[in-house]
Amino acid sequence: MVGPLFIAGNWKMNLDKEGAIELTDALTNGQGPVKGVDVAVFPPSLWLTLVGDLIRSHDIKLGGQDCHEELEGAHTGDISAKMLKDVGCDYVIVGHSERRTDHFETSETIKKKVLMSIKCNLCPIVCIGETWDERDKGAAISAVSAQLKESIPDELGSEQFIVAYEPVWAIGSGRIPTLNDIEEMHASIKETLLSINHKADKVRILYGGSVKPANAAEIFKVENVGGALVGGASLSAADFGEIISIAGAKN
Ligand code: PEP
Repeated sequence: MVGPLFIAGNWKMNLDKEGAIELTDALTNGQGPVKGVDVAVFPPSLWLTLVGDLIRSHDIKLGGQDCHEELEGAHTGDISAKMLKDVGCDYVIVGHSERRTDHFETSETIKKKVLMSIKCNLCPIVCIGETWDERDKGAAISAVSAQLKESIPDELGSEQFIVAYEPVWAIGSGRIPTLNDIEEMHASIKETLLSINHKADKVRILYGGSVKPANAAEIFKVENVGGALVGGASLSAADFGEIISIAGAKN
């Protein structure tokens, strides 16, 4: 296992300014970090500075939900990795399935985003995961392995990135794979990383998709699960805090 469990809260396009302040206040006043767990939040870009200021003296890191693959230029509406770094981010999510679907992002583009984020001193969390159709056809492992190979640049060091296994059908659905399926996929991801010359033991592999306080303990017991990327449940300080406490209890 690579260091402490990592619990990441992806707020997506949720929360108005007041809601972002309220949630951050709750996380910094008792419902957030516990010893031995790495915690990061990924607010909408407009609230990054605000949330960054509120968490500054707390043990919570900041991340962006996406970045552009280029450093700067004529890309209306986009945000660069450098801008994320400038406002205090340490992490950036790249290749989330909602970006792949809503914005037609390919693994080729994601690979460029990974490189750019590292160039700007951000740690990318690279999301990969199969669709229900792929799982149903027995092609989950091969689909995820191909996505991983296509999304991770050859020249990366093993400590420079995090992988998040997020089955597309589990995101926001309340359904999760069986624990055996999670274990099998995480083992396969490790194998794929080894095949592309990575020290797989140095890469954190998160699980994401409908993680809640009710299922977190069993998920964290699965071999090679290095933490969770949490969507819906990260919008409730009580739920997110409980998931963090469960991660802490595992150590
Ligand atoms: C996500 O979108 O990264 C995610 C895991 O969402 P949820 O926890 O809501 O399934």
